[in-house]
Amino acid sequence: CGVFGVIGLAEAANFVALGLHALQHRGQEAGGIVCHDPEHGFNSARRFGYVRDNFTKTSVMETLPGPLAIGHVRYSTAGSKGAVIRDVQPFFGEFSMGGAAIAHNGNITNADALRKELIERGSIFQSSSDSECIIHLMARSLQRNIPERMEDALRRVEGAFSVVAMTRTKLMGVRDPHGVRPLVLGRLGDGWVLSSESCALDIIGAELVREIEPGEMVVISDGKVESSFPFRPRPSKFCIFEHVYFSRPDSIIGGKSVYETRRQIGVELARENPVDADMVCPVPDSGTPAAIGYSQESGIPYAMGIIRNQYMGRTFIEPTEQIRDMGVRLKLNVNRALIKGKRVILVDDSVVRGTTTRKIKDMFLDAGAAEVHFRIASPPTAWPCFYGVDTPEREKLLAATMSEDEMCEHLKVDSLKFISLDGLYRAVGEATGRKKDCPQYCDACFSGEYPVTPSDQVEKGFEL
Ligand code: 5GP
Ligand code: SF4
Ligand code: MG
Repeated sequence: CGVFGVIGLAEAANFVALGLHALQHRGQEAGGIVCHDPEHGFNSARRFGYVRDNFTKTSVMETLPGPLAIGHVRYSTAGSKGAVIRDVQPFFGEFSMGGAAIAHNGNITNADALRKELIERGSIFQSSSDSECIIHLMARSLQRNIPERMEDALRRVEGAFSVVAMTRTKLMGVRDPHGVRPLVLGRLGDGWVLSSESCALDIIGAELVREIEPGEMVVISDGKVESSFPFRPRPSKFCIFEHVYFSRPDSIIGGKSVYETRRQIGVELARENPVDADMVCPVPDSGTPAAIGYSQESGIPYAMGIIRNQYMGRTFIEPTEQIRDMGVRLKLNVNRALIKGKRVILVDDSVVRGTTTRKIKDMFLDAGAAEVHFRIASPPTAWPCFYGVDTPEREKLLAATMSEDEMCEHLKVDSLKFISLDGLYRAVGEATGRKKDCPQYCDACFSGEYPVTPSDQVEKGFEL
């Protein structure tokens, strides 16, 4: 998901709508905005579909006045899949000291247990979302002000959370102690901005001030930013897959351009897994920077062997498998004239179920390619993510049951090679690779080493 918040700018909701539009790649199912102004109090709008189809119309934006607003774009990983408007964030709660709204990116790994406990103690849940627990925990806190209630609530929450929240007068941002999901602070004139990624600061002309640190909470009001670290410190475990796929290439993470990291992944991939061929083609858009790096390092020309229909979103993010299955062809088409008789290297970011790889291979053979080699910009995805990326159950992951060679045979491609975990760490800037005793990132979907025990899943029988 994507989160965005603005304080201290007239018509803040307009900036939030623009920010959410730039974060649309992080969630395309639905979006919501909550705002506040002294005259009208809190207002909100939650809609299915793209931000541009909902939050640009005057009829909606006129209902969202005020200098303080937060928003969320949704991609369902927890709670119900598909269309339920009550699962669309931000969530709102009314407390004795006033209202508060929260928008959450990540996944709470003890949400089932918390929900059960809260329901037994009288909480009335409105949604099936894990994030709603935070509001109920805040309601039960005995603290006197909302920021402290939020701290209280988040101390009980396990897993990944980057939260943007607001009261009548304050904008707040928090990252979980491991800092799994991103969150950055920006500045525009007299206003302050919180955003999942820096690319959404660019769209409104805000400057990137810094990242919110893992375990940090910022409370912004009256033009001032107050920072605190309310949680027990933990080792930093930023999601390495943000670098590979999830974030936009024009965002800056940890001071590094995501595009440059991805290009470097392609360079490492070419060093580790060279192959003779006529051209390197990206699987657009997610494979593009790595394909550029692969081409530069190998000296094999880069070419657009696949043309992408610009009117389709990310395939993976469509929640049902049937749509996802069709999605590949709705979105991607082979550039036949270019690839006939050619030996082609295809670079993609990941292989999850293998659907994309298989379909693309079929399309290339059908169009007369002589050889089809796949090079993948991440290690084999063998474990599900429980921290906010929607991977399927373990059984559906190709790499959970097959070796690289078996996958190659199964997918009937001429070759299939993945970047190594160490190669990936080098590409993200860790010169000596991955530290075995305490890896510098979360890489659980590749390694099976979960930095936070996914306790709800273990309860349901998931074996670590
Ligand atoms: P598959 O078709 O193998 O099931 O999925 C791989 C494709 O899904 C890749 O092209 C990749 O770009 C895309 N993808 C989109 N979102 C995700 C995600 O959250 N996780 C992973 N691993 N791949 C994703
Ligand atoms: Fe990111 Fe994978 Fe960790 Fe999930 S399991 S947070 S996708 S690195
Ligand atoms: Mg892709």
